[in-house]
Amino acid sequence: MTPQQALQKYFGYNAFRHQQEAIIQHVLNKQDVMALMPTGGGKSLCYQLPAILLNGLTIVISPLIALMKDQVDSLNVSGIPAAFLNSAQTPDEQRQLVEKLKNNQIKLLYLAPERLFGAENKLVPFLKTLNVVQIAIDEAHCISQWGHDFRPEYLMLAQLKREFPDIPVIALTATADKLTQKDILEKLNLHKPAVFVSSFNRANITYRVIPKKNSFKQLISFLNERADESGIIYCLSRKSTEDLAADLKDAGFAAEAYHAGLSNEIKAKNQEAFLRDDVKIMVATIAFGMGINKSNVRYVVHVDLPKNIEGYYQETGRAGRDGLPSEALLLYSPGDAGKLQHFARIEGNEEQSRIMLNKLNDMVKYCQLQSCRRQYLMHYFDESFPPNCGSCDVCLTEFKRFDGTLIAQKALSAVSRLNERFGVNYVIDFLRGSKNEKIREEHKQIKTYGIGADISKVDWQRYIRELITMNYLQVTDDGYPILKLTDQSSLILKGLQKVEFIETQTTEEHHTEAAPPHEAELLSRLKNVRRDIAELENVPAYIIVSDATLLEMATYLPQSLDELRLISGFGDIKLARYGRELLHPVKDYCKEKGLESKIAYKSPKRERKTKTEKTRAPRSGTDTRTETFNLYQQGKNTAEIAAARGLSQVTIESHLSHFIQTGQLDVSELVHESKLPVIVEAVENYGAERLAPLKEVLGDAYTYGEIKAVISWMNLNSSIK
Ligand code: ADP
Ligand code: ZN
Repeated sequence: MTPQQALQKYFGYNAFRHQQEAIIQHVLNKQDVMALMPTGGGKSLCYQLPAILLNGLTIVISPLIALMKDQVDSLNVSGIPAAFLNSAQTPDEQRQLVEKLKNNQIKLLYLAPERLFGAENKLVPFLKTLNVVQIAIDEAHCISQWGHDFRPEYLMLAQLKREFPDIPVIALTATADKLTQKDILEKLNLHKPAVFVSSFNRANITYRVIPKKNSFKQLISFLNERADESGIIYCLSRKSTEDLAADLKDAGFAAEAYHAGLSNEIKAKNQEAFLRDDVKIMVATIAFGMGINKSNVRYVVHVDLPKNIEGYYQETGRAGRDGLPSEALLLYSPGDAGKLQHFARIEGNEEQSRIMLNKLNDMVKYCQLQSCRRQYLMHYFDESFPPNCGSCDVCLTEFKRFDGTLIAQKALSAVSRLNERFGVNYVIDFLRGSKNEKIREEHKQIKTYGIGADISKVDWQRYIRELITMNYLQVTDDGYPILKLTDQSSLILKGLQKVEFIETQTTEEHHTEAAPPHEAELLSRLKNVRRDIAELENVPAYIIVSDATLLEMATYLPQSLDELRLISGFGDIKLARYGRELLHPVKDYCKEKGLESKIAYKSPKRERKTKTEKTRAPRSGTDTRTETFNLYQQGKNTAEIAAARGLSQVTIESHLSHFIQTGQLDVSELVHESKLPVIVEAVENYGAERLAPLKEVLGDAYTYGEIKAVISWMNLNSSIK
């Protein structure tokens, strides 16, 4: 059997990721290997596949029982005989295991390092009597003091090569830093090791940083949109994990706390509940996570500022191991940075303090970035990366920024004309030329009165909020909140400094278009069936099949075992064991809804692309714009289409604009003829690059949709000329 065939047969995958294939080939050639891959990259497969192909026993060294158990469960579910040795096993169980090992009935044996080389262990001589063909060292960075997770017992592994000189060793880690890498190679005494370093970019994670205002409220609104999904919320202190978990529970969420101060019993209980999806949200200190293999963690939130990029990257990396789109959200407040600075200073150790402060500083810079966050992270780890990833908050909003200098000048001069004596609402009413009697008569005589009438109240509130954040305005906090200028205001008023705002039209279009469509109701039925199977098998649900696999099923609607075989994640054994049971809900659902298999769109078999890879699954032959266009031609208006498709009206309008540009739709369908010349003139004067200034010039009577439509029409005309 070739590695490729084994990949399909045992794991149900059709292509190798990263450098898996080369790594596997090296091991099969009996060479030592060190493999560096990001979390979720697929390290386990690098030794599991050779273990299947080689005729003998693979020993896997792993630091944590939880981790071993997870791996062993998941191998057994795929029909690969694996076991682990553990102090909790009874002598009888151990004897049985020994028998199996002697009879070559086990392919992979998981062990903690102290089991192998600890003082009272006679395991090495026994293992030498067996046909050991490979030794894998998981989390190999634990051997290095330079790593963030040093474990003294790992140092014993230095003896490995002496005891098993001819057996290939494969060391695996997700730690990128150079010092640790070097240390691993030296300490393990690997023989002419081949070193494989994969990119550490986690393409399926979207990075976002938002200003921390009312963190609980912000969290709730984030969590409400992800009610059925699992996530981790990291807090700085033990107490705040408990408080937050309690508050979330009160608010109806299935949350628990985890920190090093809890009893082992509670920790184990909460962790287990999280793995089994009984608890959706783990509110934790950084003590939580190492060894958590749960593949369907959909988001990681930091409510407090992490101390350094290394930790942050590792924690966020726990999201999306299954390769599906996942979120990393950080709530940033400059106050947190101040607090941490205080902690970073270590009395009497200037050198160490300086390093810690620098690292903290890099973290703060990350939060304040105006450029691609992913690029910053990759550069931090010495990897080159282009300046626009398309899936961090900065990239997603970048092209939606516009020059707001004029707006800022209007706001600041209003504050100034009102002698810095009024609150936000009064200033906005004044700017908008409100006829409200609250506005004093003498103010209505000022030239600035009404210069901001073309901007809505809501937009003004936002702009002023942003000006406060940018420190061009401030609010007094004694008694009645009053807007005042700052030292920097004059830069704006004199035109020495430009201001950029982010356009209100958000990136919704991006999201809705990029996510391949699936049947949500079916997905949730599939999850229920999986849960029942998992309970019977007594393993966490994601061990049965991953979320990614279920999502593919709910997308391509396989109707038979042969079709199911084309879904990523179904190897022979899983297909035979769980295939029928998982097919039932799909077939029932399709019957109910009159749907058919879409598996044809999927072959030849390949992994379902995530949104960050910028490809879309087929929408049963039509794309999203065409779908909109068809509805329009059936006589529906934009509002009705938006409602029917669950998209915003702005998105629908921009879909339709596309067809104006292709000449399939006449501009008069969307824009009244009296408005056309006005918009054309504005575009000719101000350019078509940015919509917001055009909207500002044209005022409330003109919509973004109309402006876009006219621009498309002008593009069409100029291309005809
Ligand atoms: P790591 O140990 O590097 O964090 P894992 O070994 O746990 O990552 O793999 C992460 C997930 O990716 C697992 O669900 C695994 O089954 C899956 N996986 C690994 N290799 C492939 C592949 N070639 N194609 C599809 N999925 C894969
Ligand atoms: Zn980016």
